[in-house]
Amino acid sequence: MSINYFKQLKCSRCGNIHEANIPQTICRTCGRVLIAEYDLQTAKKEFKKEMLQDSRNYSLWRYEPLLPIRSSDSIISLAEGWTPILKLSRVNSDLGISNLFLKEEACNPTGSFKARGLCLAVSKAHELGIQEVAMPSAGNAGGALAAYAAKAKIRAHVFVPKETPAVNIAEVSLYGAEVTLVDGNISDAAKKMNELNADKKWFDMSTLKEPYRLEGKKTMGYEIAEQFRWNLPDVILYPTGGGTGLIGMWKAFNEMEQLGWIGSKRPKMVSVQTSGCAPVVKAFEAHATSAEFWNDAQTLASGLRVPKPFADDLILQALYESSGTAVAVDDNQILKDIKKIAFEEGMLLSPEGAATVSAARLLRTSGFIKENDSVLLFNTGSGYKYIEVMKLLDRHNPMS
Ligand SMILES: *Cc1c(COP(=O)(O)O)cnc(C)c1O
Ligand SMILES: [Zn+2]
Repeated sequence: MSINYFKQLKCSRCGNIHEANIPQTICRTCGRVLIAEYDLQTAKKEFKKEMLQDSRNYSLWRYEPLLPIRSSDSIISLAEGWTPILKLSRVNSDLGISNLFLKEEACNPTGSFKARGLCLAVSKAHELGIQEVAMPSAGNAGGALAAYAAKAKIRAHVFVPKETPAVNIAEVSLYGAEVTLVDGNISDAAKKMNELNADKKWFDMSTLKEPYRLEGKKTMGYEIAEQFRWNLPDVILYPTGGGTGLIGMWKAFNEMEQLGWIGSKRPKMVSVQTSGCAPVVKAFEAHATSAEFWNDAQTLASGLRVPKPFADDLILQALYESSGTAVAVDDNQILKDIKKIAFEEGMLLSPEGAATVSAARLLRTSGFIKENDSVLLFNTGSGYKYIEVMKLLDRHNPMS
């Protein structure tokens, strides 16, 4: 059995400690997000970053001592994480950014980075003996939950908006989970789920109402540091729905500083949303500490169709603390950039991933990104899952 430094859960708002050997959701006192805490002082003495050089574990489990699973036997893995970072060596000159990189999360099981979070959440549920779970999903999360639940032999119920991409609906059933189509958006799907789950017979796996998905997503921060040889990029652009990845990376950077793995320099964190659903951008521009519900959310980037992220306060905090920003891009520009990156770089991005390309262009033009900044984009999911978007692209002329 390997060493593990996981200690407990602490409320992000009121600081209340929650015991981690029983199932936990949100803070019992104030209802806010619970955050996993580690014994980083001991870890600093025992777990050196140089030890990673010899690791033959090419998955996010190379950071197992800093993940919340107590026993390796509980891990439900499909080889998630440790995704490549590619240099975009053609569009960089076009955008006027000389050091432009992209982390290719499409390489994950089920074709999106949702696998990271759900791998941890399902492994923990398995460790705690939970047998039935439920979750609303705007797209990729449902498939990832269903896949890990299949492997763990946990029953899963997924609630998705009717407009969810066909592949996302099909994969959930194929993995053996129950899928319920709901009129409206992910907030309506959550409402429906809560109605049917009034007696709490299913454990709620909703974004950040379950504490361990965040720990899976934080591994992106560890990987970026290791892959950039412990010298973080200047700017990170992250397509933001529920914000788990952004909050997770920010947490990872702070943990790594306490471990002595990196210094105090941080990337500017950028939330990328679309003009049809931009609650974080609106809140950021108003210097607010929470976001308002976005009415009539509409965008073909289904992963970003989240009208009110539950952890809005933590997303905004990371943006402010990092001197970052938030920017909304148009669906039409996203379509153009999907075509452009396919044509120029040989990569079929998801609309969410392409949105970070569109945002980088805007921020370079505005001067927020400097020519020599090292800039990291995220392709959070595989373009191959978006048949509906491909059909639109057929008719879409990139030169127009
Ligand atoms: C879920 C999702 C996002 C948004 O991720 P959050 O961590 O919820 O902000 C972005 N892109 C894709 C492809 C997604 O599936
Ligand atoms: Zn609290």
